[in-house]
Amino acid sequence: MTRILKNYINGQWVESKSARFLDVRNPADGQLLARVPEGSKEDIEDAAEKAHLAWSSWRNTPATQRVQYLFKMKQVMDANSDEIAEICTKECGKTFSESKAEIIRAIENIEVACGIPKLLQSDFSEDIAKGVDEFYIRQPLGAGACISPFNFPIMIPFWFMPYAIACGNTYIVKPSEKVPMTMTRIFELFSDLNLPEGVLNMVHGGKETVDAILEHPFIHAISFVGSSPVAKYIYQTGVSYGKRVQAQGGAKNPVVVMPDADEDTTIRIIADSAFGCAGQRCLAASIVITVGKTAESFTEKLVLAAKARKTGNGMKPGVEMGPVITKESKERIEKLIQKGVDSGARLLLDGRKINIPEFEGGNFIGPTIFEDVNSDSEIYKTEIFGPVLCILNVATLEDAIKLINKSSYGNSACIFTRSGAAARIFRHDTLAGNIGINIGIAAPMAFFPFSGWKESFYGDLHGQSLHAIEFYTQTKVVIERWHDEWTRKF
Ligand code: NAD
Repeated sequence: MTRILKNYINGQWVESKSARFLDVRNPADGQLLARVPEGSKEDIEDAAEKAHLAWSSWRNTPATQRVQYLFKMKQVMDANSDEIAEICTKECGKTFSESKAEIIRAIENIEVACGIPKLLQSDFSEDIAKGVDEFYIRQPLGAGACISPFNFPIMIPFWFMPYAIACGNTYIVKPSEKVPMTMTRIFELFSDLNLPEGVLNMVHGGKETVDAILEHPFIHAISFVGSSPVAKYIYQTGVSYGKRVQAQGGAKNPVVVMPDADEDTTIRIIADSAFGCAGQRCLAASIVITVGKTAESFTEKLVLAAKARKTGNGMKPGVEMGPVITKESKERIEKLIQKGVDSGARLLLDGRKINIPEFEGGNFIGPTIFEDVNSDSEIYKTEIFGPVLCILNVATLEDAIKLINKSSYGNSACIFTRSGAAARIFRHDTLAGNIGINIGIAAPMAFFPFSGWKESFYGDLHGQSLHAIEFYTQTKVVIERWHDEWTRKF
């Protein structure tokens, strides 16, 4: 019988109040893995009330004690990483090693959040006037929630959740309805943490669940990651209900290749960046802008590197690229490839009609490369979110930066060069939140904020590190007067 997934609320596994369910399928073979509730307002009401009730005791638990649960959380993730990674690969499609890499990133965030006793400290000014001192305290907000996308089922909730609970908030995780099994298993494993009931909850669902999160008065802060139109909606709606919102959106990331770049290294890194996770990464390189005269062999070698990538079921050893998430996603990507052909771009490598023996029912698309792409065309401007790379050439670095800065997205931009001057100009002038210099995926470590500009981010404070701590706390400023005539009596 097909497994029906449950919510985790107040330390219990409970059925959703929704009577509607969605199929969860393995993208590599179409096999039905489970059914997930579409979610309901009542589910969120239940979780928000329990999180709210748990908060008063949790916020009064000393930070030094709260981190003890995070130490255990790290151990649980470490000890069960193979099992978690396998579930992730089965429902999300990425390779087993890509799933394992996600766990490492999740753990790094737990580790940073373990520094909370120090990170919560504030500033104190003595004698701002005679006998008057001023300082501030960071206090938690109450219940918070995160809403995740499908492409990093393990890592993304950890950009927010460990910091939120370390700061003394209680929390609700809403996984993507396309990949709900991984977080369900993680929550099952978290029963070993013995966290107080209601501190950490998980509710499944889609739009109705998200709307309930946006509206519920007990939820004070929302972290979202997903596509830009939804990010904008989440930000605007959440803010209109008086909540704190940080909403990370989509991307179209350019990589600039200068004539002095080391050809072989650059090609290897670009192929990894564009085709890793089947291009379903918000930091994936999707545009290559070559500057001036690049070696003639550049595109030829890039095509060879792309062709050499082994596509298949992510659980099979040696496979470097899995399927895309759903049949609809595959069809959408194939249509965009056709639009690219119709726009006059030269299709150097066509990933449509790839055949993976034994996995004919999978959503596979092979690496695809276009050359001479027009910067006004749909394939240049649209986030394809698949293994499709567009190449175009400009005369100067200045032209490349101008082109990048015209984009509505600003998640990341990378440059490959041996020139310190070119790298500095690029770093200084490019309008993007994460910059890579001879790096293909400029993914910030957990002790840096995961930035993002323009339509790739709505809000002020980003996920991870000190930004996450500021986001999940509010500052209370205290000014104290202690007259000499009172204090000197002691
Ligand atoms: P998505 O926007 O479709 O869904 C993300 C979440 O929003 C899901 O939990 C979903 O249930 C919910 N949702 C979807 N439509 C909604 C609606 N109309 N109203 C309310 N909630 C809704 O994104 P996805 O397809 O799951 O993920 C891929 C996208 O995420 C890509 O655009 C990718 O670039 C982006 N992404 C961005 C980052 C980043 O750091 N900037 C990281 C990972 C993924």
